[in-house]
Amino acid sequence: MPTTAARFQPFGLTIFAEMTALANKHGAVNLAQGFPDFDGPEPIKAAATAAMARGQNQYARMQGVPELNAAIVARWKAQTGRDIDGESQVTVTSGCTEALAATFLGLINPGDEVILFEPYYDCYLAGIAMAGGIHKVVTLRTPTSPHAPFTFDPDDLRRAITNKTRAIVINTPNNPTGKVFSREELTQIADVCIKHNLIAITDEVYERLTFDPGLPHISIATLPGMADRTITLSSLGKTFSLTGWKIGWAIASRELTQCVRAAHQFLTFCSSTPLQHGAAAALTHGEPHIAELVRDLTAARDYLGRALEGLGFRVFWPAGTYFIMADHTEPSRRLGISPADDVAFCRRLTADIGVAAIPTSGFYDNKHWGRPLARFAFCKKMDTLQRAVERLSKLRQ
Ligand code: PMP
Ligand code: GLN
Repeated sequence: MPTTAARFQPFGLTIFAEMTALANKHGAVNLAQGFPDFDGPEPIKAAATAAMARGQNQYARMQGVPELNAAIVARWKAQTGRDIDGESQVTVTSGCTEALAATFLGLINPGDEVILFEPYYDCYLAGIAMAGGIHKVVTLRTPTSPHAPFTFDPDDLRRAITNKTRAIVINTPNNPTGKVFSREELTQIADVCIKHNLIAITDEVYERLTFDPGLPHISIATLPGMADRTITLSSLGKTFSLTGWKIGWAIASRELTQCVRAAHQFLTFCSSTPLQHGAAAALTHGEPHIAELVRDLTAARDYLGRALEGLGFRVFWPAGTYFIMADHTEPSRRLGISPADDVAFCRRLTADIGVAAIPTSGFYDNKHWGRPLARFAFCKKMDTLQRAVERLSKLRQ
């Protein structure tokens, strides 16, 4: 009998695939896996189909089509004020997922330690394990009030460092907590990176999806002393509601870029050529679409958040991303489920109430932090959210 390689055995099927399959089986409204139920902008799709019609259908350059590398450089300049070289500092990948895998595989030696903040996005664990690395966690503690952020204790971060630590992974805005790391927090992380000579690997796929003007997205690469020790990863999917395109990128110094490309050239070599042309159009002309998306997402967040609060969930209001974390203790009690069982709660919610959410304990090493929490995606049409809320009202009885 074929047996899955040992390195993957701890992981099983991803929770996103599992919950979407369960949602489909029960005809539930899928607020579990984070993908919009509306399409990306027409002019951006047209740019990709035009590239296909023009015959841009063969392999792209390993590092990305020149137009996309240039568009990433221009956007980085607009967002950070910094100049980078598109040829030696930008690598186009198949989504941020591949950028993460290429970064871990290109940088981490067996036995190296990598620090993650928990709850973490699930593919970080598998990526580090594929490289033979070992992950260590620092907990983002659940706030005690609805508008306060998840926070870490800087002493926990300092304690997690050993002489084997190679890198710290940051994800801001953060999935699943909706946290946007503040300048003060990023400075604390940067100080640790500089003091211990560590690399910062920063996943910024939700960089444009923030809701609080007082808490803007900041790239840690822009903090003093960090440009040459940071690999900044992002992708097109969230910003332009094109999650199925899987176009991502890594921005780093020339030296760190060589590490990423060492792996990227053998993982996929290059990403879809016509979609890269579409991505270049998105980054160059897509700004009005982003403003519209953020307006819509703000309304969606407010609607779903208030509805969940009305149903007895404790909502932790996100400053970014398109996810709401909510404590399900009270609704679980009404359903006769242990408040410490996020998996049972999300399964019941999907099968019996008809709304799918993501149980979060799988995103923690210290499972007890995640057990009271469920994650709801609000990147959905208002109609879809209304249908979900109608079904969730059964939780009142
Ligand atoms: N990082 C985070 C935090 C995510 O939520 C996602 C969502 N899919 C990814 C990376 C992967 O991005 P992509 O779809 O571009 O591979
Ligand atoms: N990033 C998406 C989420 O958090 C899931 C993507 C996936 O299914 N791999 O819901």
